[in-house]
Amino acid sequence: MHASISCRGNAGIKALVKTEEAWVPTAKDTSLYIRPFMFATEAALGVHMAKSYKFMILCCPVGAYYATGLDPVKILVENELVRAVAGGTGFTKCGGNYAGSIAGQVKAEKLGYSQVLWLDGNERKYVEEVGTMNIMFKIDGEIWTAPTVGTVLPGVTRDSMIHLLKDWGYNVREERLAIDDLMKAGHDGKLEEVFGTGTAAVISPVGELRFKDDVVVINGGKTGELTQKLYDTLTGIQWGRLEDKYGWTTVIE
Ligand SMILES: *Cc1c(COP(=O)(O)O)cnc(C)c1O
Repeated sequence: MHASISCRGNAGIKALVKTEEAWVPTAKDTSLYIRPFMFATEAALGVHMAKSYKFMILCCPVGAYYATGLDPVKILVENELVRAVAGGTGFTKCGGNYAGSIAGQVKAEKLGYSQVLWLDGNERKYVEEVGTMNIMFKIDGEIWTAPTVGTVLPGVTRDSMIHLLKDWGYNVREERLAIDDLMKAGHDGKLEEVFGTGTAAVISPVGELRFKDDVVVINGGKTGELTQKLYDTLTGIQWGRLEDKYGWTTVIE
């Protein structure tokens, strides 16, 4: 069997995927989602670091994320609620981070938006992440994405995209970007593409951003050329359609 796994090598995951190989779907763009997780199992009350934990790896066959091609989403910029604060746990994939993000997600959905663009927790000024994805902006030919300074999760998809972009000659600026500057770039016609990056969706094009009463439509609400190229390239590598010169895939046989 050949199964490409896009998470970076781990003996337990390899053994599990081998054991469960009958569950690996083969139809186009389907995959076996692999989710390692861990929770405390100590039978005690009290707020302290637990002495015992259970580590598990969950596998789930999933259908094509985009059944009919990449589909741009509308995003609400959240200016009150925050996902992560400096000194907190935003940099890690920790359950508590998700609990803290749900009120914002509900609010966005009520207003007809599918995800939240989170601003930094101190000043509510700099863009950080979108929903549970990292986010990138193509402004005047350059790529901007938030630096992973403690409140931003250093996603593996973000890292892969940065490698591809740099190889293609793009200037990638891992710098703080103020929401006001972002909206201004949108109104000045310089905000060319916006996309979220994460394992499940790989890439999620953003067609519209709303900050308070200000709305910016990106690339006419359509998937950008670079966004599509990044998606095709990373999924091409994952599926073995393209050469993997980075050593990102692992063949399990
Ligand atoms: C999972 C996650 C990401 C994306 O990480 P990947 O490793 O690319 O899947 C980004 N931000 C948050 C908050 C996440 O939970």
